[in-house]
Amino acid sequence: MGVIAGVYQLRICLKRPMEILVGAPGRHTFPAGWYVYTGSARHGLVQRVARHLRHHKRTHWHIDYLLAAADHVEAFVLPGGKPTECELHAGLEGGRVLIPGFGASDCHCESHLAWFRKRPEIRLMPWREFIRDCRLY
Ligand SMILES: [Zn+2]
Repeated sequence: MGVIAGVYQLRICLKRPMEILVGAPGRHTFPAGWYVYTGSARHGLVQRVARHLRHHKRTHWHIDYLLAAADHVEAFVLPGGKPTECELHAGLEGGRVLIPGFGASDCHCESHLAWFRKRPEIRLMPWREFIRDCRLY
């Protein structure tokens, strides 16, 4: 199961506003609410998402800083190459871009992180279901 490619979304809950130092973009105030981060893994979707969900790790990607401050994180996945992470993120409705460039250093999107006042629905497969059925892939 090491070579599953695919896209994923993380639904992140932040109960209080937080000031977070995010690598290169710098210090930002993250309002309380819900965040959706969209990413992809060309090899090792399982390993990537598992890393995001781990509590103790070195901060490497922008999202690591937000995850370290989050109250709650849920992951959703979609194995395969379609849609791309950019298409998937663009398809989120009602989200706001708070930090231009967040998670989007390798593409032309404004951001791969969206903020929502209310809990957004995610259409991908919940991580736990995916892991349970993982040997099918
Ligand atoms: Zn993009």
